[in-house]
Amino acid sequence: MLVVSHVTKKYRKVIANNDINLTIDNGQIGILLGPNGAGKSTIIKCIMGFLKYDGQITVDGCSNKTVEAKRYMGYVPEIPSLYPNLTVDEHLEFIARAYKLKDYKEYKEQLLERFELQDKRKKFGDELSKGMQQKLSICCGLLPRPQLILFDEPMIGLDPHAIKELKKVFEELKEKGCCVLVSTHMIDSIEELWDTTYIMKDGQIAATVDRKDIGETDKSLEDIFFEI
Ligand code: ATP
Repeated sequence: MLVVSHVTKKYRKVIANNDINLTIDNGQIGILLGPNGAGKSTIIKCIMGFLKYDGQITVDGCSNKTVEAKRYMGYVPEIPSLYPNLTVDEHLEFIARAYKLKDYKEYKEQLLERFELQDKRKKFGDELSKGMQQKLSICCGLLPRPQLILFDEPMIGLDPHAIKELKKVFEELKEKGCCVLVSTHMIDSIEELWDTTYIMKDGQIAATVDRKDIGETDKSLEDIFFEI
């Protein structure tokens, strides 16, 4: 379970996140929806512990800064951060070693197949197209099977097949009881997958929309988003 309480992040004079509160239970998908510059990537980086911030963030009751919490967490960044001189296969083997994974080979093969990288395994990071880099970055994030996984704009640059596979991955993570947070600025990319959507604007959570609330009104998520 992820709990973000009163998180504020300033980059000098810019308030990128202003008193952010959000909770995602295990087995749930939370969406951060907002336009460019709304503060989505910043809160994801705060949750991962990459940035200093004011406030509190816990993962299954532990501070996100603890080793216990870090073991639970996975991250797929907005811009893939790959090693130009490692091949596709070497990237995944590197992750497996870094996380001391056992019994990962079959899952690695499944991921390569799902994201159509099985024929690219000998290609170096800088030989991949942008979409292929994004697919490899997703595979790297998934390989350690994190309990909490954060995806920052994961659909960007993906072809329709990969988008379909990624949506299936979201469903599977939910079924397995994982806690998933996905940032996006494209409302139609998230369809029916989410449990709670946090609409962000100017660094704040402008609205929290639960799926059950949508059923009780005539308004769609899109209507609510454009009203804000
Ligand atoms: P996008 O959809 O374009 O990725 P976002 O919602 O993820 O946007 P952030 O990247 O979190 O938004 O940026 C929030 C605010 O913080 C913006 O005003 C941005 O200009 C500012 N910002 C982000 N990173 C930095 C930085 N390293 N230094 C200064 N300001 C920053």
